[in-house]
Amino acid sequence: MSDGFGLDHLPYGVFSTQGSAPRVGVRYADTVVDVATVRPELDRPRLNDFMGLGPAAWAETHGRIAELVDSDALPAYPLDDVALHLPFTVGDYVDFYASLDHASNVGRIFRPDQEPLLPNWRHLPVGYHGRGGTVVVSGTPVVRPCGQRKAPTEEAPAYGPSRRLDIEAELGFVVGVGSELGARIGVDEFEQHVFGVVGVNDWSARDIQAWEYVPLGPFLGKSFATSVSAWVTPLAALASARTHVPAQDPAPLPYLAGSDRWALDVEVEVVLNGEVVSRPSYRTMYWSPAQMLAHLTVNGASTRTGDLFASGTISGPEPDTRGSFLELSWGGKEPFAGGHTFLEDGDEVVLRYSSPAPDGGRITLGDVVGRIEPARP
Ligand code: CA
Repeated sequence: MSDGFGLDHLPYGVFSTQGSAPRVGVRYADTVVDVATVRPELDRPRLNDFMGLGPAAWAETHGRIAELVDSDALPAYPLDDVALHLPFTVGDYVDFYASLDHASNVGRIFRPDQEPLLPNWRHLPVGYHGRGGTVVVSGTPVVRPCGQRKAPTEEAPAYGPSRRLDIEAELGFVVGVGSELGARIGVDEFEQHVFGVVGVNDWSARDIQAWEYVPLGPFLGKSFATSVSAWVTPLAALASARTHVPAQDPAPLPYLAGSDRWALDVEVEVVLNGEVVSRPSYRTMYWSPAQMLAHLTVNGASTRTGDLFASGTISGPEPDTRGSFLELSWGGKEPFAGGHTFLEDGDEVVLRYSSPAPDGGRITLGDVVGRIEPARP
């Protein structure tokens, strides 16, 4: 359990012990190290003030914390003795759709008579604005949403609990230093703005989504809950995970081109009730994180500390690398993992993430846990 949480990683979170106020800590092995005394911006119940300081302060602080942790100079608590909180106040939340295999699979399932990819997909990172206020920390129960749903075979819509509740295994990127209204973040300026990476489960009610999404896109089928990991891995800790996106054809427009279309080598495991049911890899994503941020701001939309943008479902070309139950069960037609199609009440899903570390080992990103509770009457 302690593997992947060494001195080269030290992801940030917000924790409290019984009777104490929430403050910033770092994960080291199976402990949470209290770093509130290291600088004033860390003695806060959220990471935002620290994230807003920028890359020079992030690097300098990581170095100081690593030294202090290495010499046991800071208080540390066993993970089991602390409560973990949402690590940052979420500003705006944007969700992309950057996996070619996921977009192709969903196209085949939702629009079987048409080309799987819509004409814009290879020209821009498709996305939508989600709901920042319903982003919750890992471990928060997910109540089955109710809403309007209408299967193609049904005459009229009906109201009730979703019958096709799903996961989406994603990676999320957290903005540290924002940008002004009217300004753009260039594709080579990513590291000046983005603080770190979180695991994301973008819970999705497929029956609500399928009925409501035309023509304006996802709405209530997505906004009831989005889970993020309790730990934010600093971007710098993923230096050894840098790789390149696949060949992009047609060539992207100049504002999406950049000097280095880097991707991240992050392996994901989707665990359902204790069983690994899929192993997506972030390496296969078509659009790079920097291209997503450049596109998100190309119209001059401002960004703020705490803004979150997620990659979209991570799915690879093989059936056992699909990052949603929609794809794993092929629209509910092909049960998997002992008869599963969509989520049942009581199901627990854990998303685990790992990537290469500088010393040749691996670092473990914070996992994302959620258990489904029955719909409220
Ligand atoms: Ca999504």
